[in-house]
Amino acid sequence: MEATLRGVGVSHGVAIGEVRHMGTAVLEPPAKQIPAEDAEREQGRARKAVEAVAADLMARGNLAGGEAQAVLEAQAMMAQDPELMADVDRRIAVGSTAERAVYDAFAAYRELLAGAGEYLAGRVADLDDVRNRIVARLLGVPMPGVPDSDEPYVLVARDLAPADTALLDPTLVLGFVTEEGGPTSHSAILARALGVPAVVALPGAGELAEGTVIAVDGSTGDIFVEPSEEKKSELEAAAAERKAALSASTGPGATADGHKVPLLANVGGPADVPAAVEAGAEGVGLFRTEFLFLDDSKNAPSEEKQVEAYRQVLEAFPEGRVVVRVLDAGADKPLDFLTPGDEPNPALGVRGLRTLLDHPEVLRTQLTALAKAADGLPVYLEVMAPMVADRTDAKAFADACRAAGLQAKFGAMVEIPSAALRARSILQEVEFLSLGTNDLAQYTFAADRQVGAVSRLQDPWQPALLDLVALSAEAAKAEGKSCGVCGEAASDPLLACVLTGLGVTSLSMGAASIPCVRATLAKYTLAQCERAAAAARAADSADEARNAAQAVLSGE
Ligand code: PEP
Ligand code: MG
Repeated sequence: MEATLRGVGVSHGVAIGEVRHMGTAVLEPPAKQIPAEDAEREQGRARKAVEAVAADLMARGNLAGGEAQAVLEAQAMMAQDPELMADVDRRIAVGSTAERAVYDAFAAYRELLAGAGEYLAGRVADLDDVRNRIVARLLGVPMPGVPDSDEPYVLVARDLAPADTALLDPTLVLGFVTEEGGPTSHSAILARALGVPAVVALPGAGELAEGTVIAVDGSTGDIFVEPSEEKKSELEAAAAERKAALSASTGPGATADGHKVPLLANVGGPADVPAAVEAGAEGVGLFRTEFLFLDDSKNAPSEEKQVEAYRQVLEAFPEGRVVVRVLDAGADKPLDFLTPGDEPNPALGVRGLRTLLDHPEVLRTQLTALAKAADGLPVYLEVMAPMVADRTDAKAFADACRAAGLQAKFGAMVEIPSAALRARSILQEVEFLSLGTNDLAQYTFAADRQVGAVSRLQDPWQPALLDLVALSAEAAKAEGKSCGVCGEAASDPLLACVLTGLGVTSLSMGAASIPCVRATLAKYTLAQCERAAAAARAADSADEARNAAQAVLSGE
C-alpha cells in the first residue's frame, strides 16, 4: 500500500505527478582574496548583478500582476538596499570577490532579520532567494528556482519564494508541496490565486525522492507516495466530479433552499479584477489596499494614484458591492515610513488601524481618495478598518470616515478576539463586521501565521475560532447588521457551509475558490448548514470539527 503523509491542504484540487525539487542549493562561493587593484572592477560587477536581479524581479512582477507584483517589487527593493550594497562594497575593498562579498553581506543581514521579530524572520526566505539570484548571476550558473522540465511535475520545496510561486506555469506545475509555511502564508495565498493544488507544512517534504510519483490532495492535505492505480483512479474520479459540479454551478451564491450568501472576491488591486469577474464574484469583499503602498517604502502613494486604482476596481462592479480595507501596515506588512522599527513583537504592536490613528494624514488621504473614486459611480462602497480592538477604535475610524465626507458604509474587521467578544459594542459605531479569520486565528491561538510549526493552531476549523465567528454573527444579527468572512476560511467549501450555518452573511475569497464554494453551498439547505455548524462547534479539535460537519452534510 502507498505511504500517506499529512500536511495542511491550502489550495484545492488533486495533482498526481513526479516530484521535482526546487533548486534551493545554497551557492557558497569560495573565500579567496583579490588584489587591491581589482576591487573597483569587482564592485562594478556586484552592482551590475544586483541591478540585473532587481530588474528581473520587477519584470516578473509586471508579468504576474496583482498581489504577486507587490511582493516581487518588495524583493527587488531588498536587493537594492543601500546599506547592504555599502556592506558589499566594504567587503570587496578589503579583498573579497564580488560573489563572496554578496554572500557574506547577505549572511550578516540574514542573521539580523532572523533574530529581529516575527515579521522580519518571516522574510528570510525572500532574502535568501534574492541572495541566491545575485550570487548565481555573478558565478554564471543557472538561477536557483523552479526546475527546468518539459514534463509536468509536482514541485516540492522547503518554502516557496514569492518570485517563484508568482511565475509557476500551471500547465507544467501540477501542484506544490512545502515543508514550511502556514495556511495563511503568502505562498498559500498565491497558490490559491493561481489555482494550483497545494499542501504546506508537510514535515519531511524535503526527503521525498526526486522522480517519485506522488498524489497531492490540496483539500485534505494528504500526500500519497507511489499511489496504487486504484488510489489514482479514485482521486482522479473525485477531482473530475468536482470539476463537473463546478462548471454546472453559476449565478449568485445561495444554499439549496435559496438562502442568499453573496460570494465576493479578495483583490490586491486592479490586476486581480478580471479573474474575479470571470469567477462570477458578486463584488469585492476585501480590497487589500496595502499593496498600493508597497511600491515605495518611504512615501504613501499620492491621492491621484490612489483615486485611479480605487476607481478601476469600483468600475468593474457596477451595482455591486466593493469593500475596501484601509491600509493594513505593520507586522507582516511593515512600511518604513509608518511602522516603528524597534518593536519587540510587531504582530502585537502598532499595526492596522493603530498605525493609521498614529498617522491621521495617511488615513485622511486614503478616505478622500476613496470618496473621489466613488463619486458618480453606481457602486455600493463599503470601507473597513483592519485590527479593530474595541468600540473606541471603531468610533475613531467612523469619525475619520465622516470627517472625510465619505458616502459609504463603515465597518470593522474582526481580527482580534476582543472584537468578537464585544461585537455588539463595536456595532454601535459601525454598520458591518468582516471576520479576518487569518489574524483572528493567529491572535486566538497565539500562533504566528508565518510559522509552519504551529499551523495546527492556524486551522480555521478550530472550534474556538468557530465560537468567535458565531459570537460575531449573532451580534450582527441582533443589531440588524451584516457580518461577512474575508479570511482564508471562506475559501474552504465545507467550512463555507459551516460559516453560513453560523450566521455569516457573505463570503469573500481568492477568485479561484469561488466556483467550488458556490457549487458546494448549493448542495445543502440552510438547516443542514446550521446542523453542520452545531456539530463542528461541539467538537474538541479542528479535525473532529471537520469530520463532524462532513458527517452531517453527507447524511452519515
Ligand atoms: C485576515 O487576517 O483574515 C485578513 C483577511 O487580512 P490579511 O490576511 O490581509 O491580514
Ligand atoms: Mg488580517
